[in-house]
Amino acid sequence: MKTVKKIFVLFLIFLISSDILNAKDPIKVLVLTGQNNHNWQASSVILQKYLNESGIFAADLAVSPKTGEDMSSFCPDFSAYKAVVLDYTGDSWSEKTNKAFLEYVNGGGGVVVYHAANNAFRNWKEYNEITGLGGWDNRNETDGPYVYFRDGNEVRDTTPGPGGSHGKKHEYKIALRIKDHPITKGLPEIWTHSKDELYDRLRGPAKNLTVLATAWSDKETGGTGRDEPVLMVIKWGKGRVFHTILGHVGAGDGPYPAVEGASFIVTFLRGTEWAATGKVSQGVPDDFPCK
Ligand code: ZN
Repeated sequence: MKTVKKIFVLFLIFLISSDILNAKDPIKVLVLTGQNNHNWQASSVILQKYLNESGIFAADLAVSPKTGEDMSSFCPDFSAYKAVVLDYTGDSWSEKTNKAFLEYVNGGGGVVVYHAANNAFRNWKEYNEITGLGGWDNRNETDGPYVYFRDGNEVRDTTPGPGGSHGKKHEYKIALRIKDHPITKGLPEIWTHSKDELYDRLRGPAKNLTVLATAWSDKETGGTGRDEPVLMVIKWGKGRVFHTILGHVGAGDGPYPAVEGASFIVTFLRGTEWAATGKVSQGVPDDFPCK
């Protein structure tokens, strides 16, 4: 009897320890913010909350000095993270931080380019290669082609003109262009995104860039009359980049419909996991919107 008890206890210990060994460590993610032409104080905390509440990630915030302040002390330890979520557009970082960021991405670090982060650093060549497409800050044909879809085909259009604009905020339909990418697999082919800005006329180097999903930018809402990219992936060095133009967070205490629906949350979390690991373990929740 005693031996049976011992074996049973040992078996329990084995079960518990194997469970501990199998429990996955959360994926470390850094949300980088501190300057933006948007309400970064709200958006960065919302993004961090989504990441932490998913049970998959452990997210920290890196907040830069304010506009015009000395940036020399802003040195996030990128190497401690599997993905960096960029919620930043503003003053240049220090040379040291720029170099550390490029080394991190080149070495295989994941990047998420969130909404206005594609407005940042027009004159930083490598940053624009990492984001693939950008807008505003006087971008024009010297920054690269416009990228959009026409009749189901991707167009790279070198016509001169400004880069980056959007019509009025509205609900819009998002259509998948790549259905078997880890980020998009299992999502509906078309779904309705909550009220948001729809960026258009983005242009940039667009090297190693794949458009995963587009949205029709209607002239009636002030758009281009083109299918504009909304979700993209880019390869830069060994790094994976997920670029989402979704998620406008404006001034005030909310609500912020653009980031509050499953459309934003699910694509953001799946894109971040892919950028960090190259895989997506998350399913598609039942409340994901359809057409
Ligand atoms: Zn915006």
